[in-house]
Amino acid sequence: MRLKYQKSLKEDYSPNRNITEFSLGTLKRGIAAEETAPHQGITIVGDQMENTMKTVYETVKARDPNQSEFHQAVEEVLDSIGPVLGENPQYYDVALGLVEPERVIQFRVPWYDDEGSLHVNRGFRVQFNSVIGPYKGGLRFHPSVNLSILKFLAFEQVFKNSLTGLPLGGGKGGSDFNPKGRSNNEVKRFCQSFMSELWRHIGADLDVPAGDIGVGGREIGYLYGMYRKLANEFTGVLTGKGLSYGGSLIRPEATGYGLVYFAREMLAAKGKTFNGASVGISGSGNVAQFACEKVLDLGGKPVTMSDSSGFIFDSEGIDREKLAWIMDLKNNRRGRIKQYAENFDSAEFTESHPEPSMNLIWGTKVDVALPCATQNEINAEEAHMLVEGGVMAVAEGANMPCTPEAIGVFHDNEVLFAPGKASNAGGVATSGLEMSQNSLRISWPREEVDQRLEGIMVNIHKNAFETAEKYGMPGNYVAGANIAGFLKVAESTIAQGIL
Ligand code: NDP
Repeated sequence: MRLKYQKSLKEDYSPNRNITEFSLGTLKRGIAAEETAPHQGITIVGDQMENTMKTVYETVKARDPNQSEFHQAVEEVLDSIGPVLGENPQYYDVALGLVEPERVIQFRVPWYDDEGSLHVNRGFRVQFNSVIGPYKGGLRFHPSVNLSILKFLAFEQVFKNSLTGLPLGGGKGGSDFNPKGRSNNEVKRFCQSFMSELWRHIGADLDVPAGDIGVGGREIGYLYGMYRKLANEFTGVLTGKGLSYGGSLIRPEATGYGLVYFAREMLAAKGKTFNGASVGISGSGNVAQFACEKVLDLGGKPVTMSDSSGFIFDSEGIDREKLAWIMDLKNNRRGRIKQYAENFDSAEFTESHPEPSMNLIWGTKVDVALPCATQNEINAEEAHMLVEGGVMAVAEGANMPCTPEAIGVFHDNEVLFAPGKASNAGGVATSGLEMSQNSLRISWPREEVDQRLEGIMVNIHKNAFETAEKYGMPGNYVAGANIAGFLKVAESTIAQGIL
C-alpha cells in the first residue's frame, strides 16, 4: 500500500509522556498486529506506521527534552521517510538506531587571552553515523553552539553526505567560543587548545572535520598545524586546508557555487532560469559570498546581503566590483555589512530587529531567495512575506534556515523549495574530493574540481527530484532528499548487520 505521510509528527506530541528508554519493544507497539512476524512480508498501514514513527519521535524528545533544534531535524526526516518504512518494515530498526549518535565527545578548552586572563570554553564532536564512510562534517565556533545544535547539524550531515554519492559518514563539532573581536594570537591559542584534545578522536580514515560558521581558512590552518604536531603525521585529516598544504581548489567556493547549481536545476525543471532574476541572499560569509558570485555568473541580480547586525538592499544590484568589496570587508578587514551602505549610494541598511525571530530581510521583493546565514532565519510569517513578494524559488544555503512551518508555506503556495541537505551539499562533496586528492597525493586543476562539483549537484537534484516522484510527492525536494539519503544509509546498515 502506498502511503501519504504528510501529517506533522509534532501535532499529537504530549510532553508529559514518560518514555526514557529506547527499545524495539516500544517501537513495535505501533505495529502490534504484525508483532508475531516482524520484518517478513508485513504491510504496515497508515495509522500503525504513524503511531510507530510518533513513538520514535516522542522517545527522542523525552530523552533530550531541551534539544529543540535536534527534534526539529529528526521530525522532518521521520515525516519524510514514512512511505519508505511502510514498504520496508525492516527499516524500522535502522530508523530507531539512526536517531541516536554513535558517539558524542565533549571536552574542556582552556586558553589565555592577550591580557593573560584564562577562559574555559566547551568543545564538542558528535560522531553521528559512520556506516557509509568516515565521519565528515564541519566545526562551528559561535557562542550559540550547544549539543542540540551540533546534534541537529550532524544528523542532517548523515543524509547530506549520503546524497553526494561519496563514501562519507556524518559528524559535526565545534565550540561556544566566539572568534569575533579576538586577535589572531587569541584565535591561534584557542585553536591549539581545542585540537590538543580533539586530535585523539579524529583521523583521515576515522573522522575528517572541516569549517563552518566561525571556522574559515585561518582557523583550519591553526587546527591542522596542531594536529600535525601532535599526531606526527601529514594526512588529510581536515578539509578546507590552504592550497599550499593539501587544500583543494574550489573548496572555498563549493557550498555557494553548489547551491546555485542546484537552484539552477530546480528552476530549469520548471522552465525557468536565473537570467534577469532578482535574488535575495542572507549572510555575508563563505556561503553567501560565493552564492552571490555564481548568481552573477548565471545572469542573476543579487540585491541583499546581511550579517547579524542587519541587512543591506542595493536597488542597482551587487555587481562583481561590489562583491569584491564585500569579500575584502568580511575576509580581511573583518567589518560589518552596514559599511556597504555607507560606501555605495544605491544601497540602504536596515538594522536587525531587536526580536531575533523577526528577520526583516525577507520583506524584500525577490524572485529567488537564498538564505545563507544560520538556522531558523525564515519562519512562517517571513515565508508569507516572500510569497507576497512573488518569490518563485527558495534554496537553503545555510543548514535548516527555514522552519517547518515556513517550508509548509512554500509548499502550499507552489514555491520551489530546496532543503539544505541537498542544496548545500556542494561543500562537503568538494571536501570529499579534497580527501581523494590527499589520498592520491595529487591536485586536480580548478576546472576539473568545478566540473565534478557541478556533476554532483546535478545528480543530487536528479536523485531528489526522481525519488519524490517515485514516492508520490512530485516536486517535494524535502521528501525526495530525505528518502534518497536515508535509503543508502539504511541498506548499508542492514548489509553490515549492525546498528
Ligand atoms: P560564515 O561564518 O562564513 O558566515 C556566516 C554568516 O551568517 C555571517 O554573515 C554571519 O554574520 C551570519 N550569521 C551567523 N549567525 C547569525 C545569526 N544568528 N543571525 C544573523 N546572521 C547570522 O559561515 P558560512 O557561510 O560557512 O555558513 C553559513 C551557513 O551555511 C551555516 O548554516 C553553515 O552551517 C552552512 N553551511 C556551510 C558550509 C560551508 O562550506 N561553509 C557547508 C554547508 C552548510 P556575523 O558575522 O555578524 O555573525
